[in-house]
Amino acid sequence: MSLLVVGTVAFDAIETPFGKTDKIVGGAASYISLAAGYYTKNIHLVSVIGDDFDQDFLTTLKNHGVDLEGLQLKKGEKSFFWAGKYHNDLNSRDTLDTQLNVLEHFNPVVPEKAKNAEFLMLGNLVPAIQRQVITQMNERPKLIVMDTMNFWMDIAMEELLKTIAMVDVLTINDAEARQLSGEYSLVKAAQKILGMGPKILIIKKGEHGALLFNKNEIFFAPALPLEEVFDPTGAGDSFAGGFIGYLAQTRDISFENMKRALIYASAMASFTVERFGTERLIGLSKEQIENRLQEFIDLVDFDITFA
Ligand code: AMP
Repeated sequence: MSLLVVGTVAFDAIETPFGKTDKIVGGAASYISLAAGYYTKNIHLVSVIGDDFDQDFLTTLKNHGVDLEGLQLKKGEKSFFWAGKYHNDLNSRDTLDTQLNVLEHFNPVVPEKAKNAEFLMLGNLVPAIQRQVITQMNERPKLIVMDTMNFWMDIAMEELLKTIAMVDVLTINDAEARQLSGEYSLVKAAQKILGMGPKILIIKKGEHGALLFNKNEIFFAPALPLEEVFDPTGAGDSFAGGFIGYLAQTRDISFENMKRALIYASAMASFTVERFGTERLIGLSKEQIENRLQEFIDLVDFDITFA
């Protein structure tokens, strides 16, 4: 059983109230692959980089069990670049710069050995390219999860809606859910978005946790109140990686199991925000992850007895 991940592998420049970075490694697919790798092996990455990219990070991905045959390297071109600045609450940010570079003419090619992957994670990327990956699969995967962002809602809404209609699970944040649906109430927004195609919607609310919806049920997972939050970049992608990684490991895509997956997802996001960039997601031990999961269990463990 395998997992195919598509998304950006990129350079980011990040500014938070705690500091500022020059170009560091980021990209949706980088975070997704690292996070998923803690739960499932046999991960194939489809993406594109320029010849300016950091070779050491590629070695790190390989060491985390990620197969890079589908990662294209474009000679003489620059990698995707994103710059963002977080507001003081760290829950919202402004995009300062998005340079598509290699992404502009990217034709994803899914390697033969990944065309039967049962799990497909469409990380944040040009919506038309996300669709090109779906159509290259030999059979429709058992589960397709898609992440996207306001950037694509602003410039490619029609394309985005076509891709959304083809997936099983959509993950977006609360502001994006409101933008996509035109509804303020997240419950109403969810019902509208579920009418666009996906069977499941996940609405991420940063430090306020995440909501999981199907047509009839809602489940809530908290975010861990952390002592140190340095950089929220990649939290959503690490969340998505943890979510699909756990589902791929257990091969159970029931709503009940997705509730558990939401906690595994939140645990991975909680690590990512503790350092800048991908740093905290590299080299975590099984024990560290289990301790973190236990903190989530303890956080919401209570008894109520009705008289
Ligand atoms: P997140 O904080 O989880 O929303 O994801 C942040 C990552 O998304 C950064 O590492 C960026 O490189 C990447 N990113 C930012 N904007 C875009 C975009 N328009 N398309 C794809 N990836 C992006």
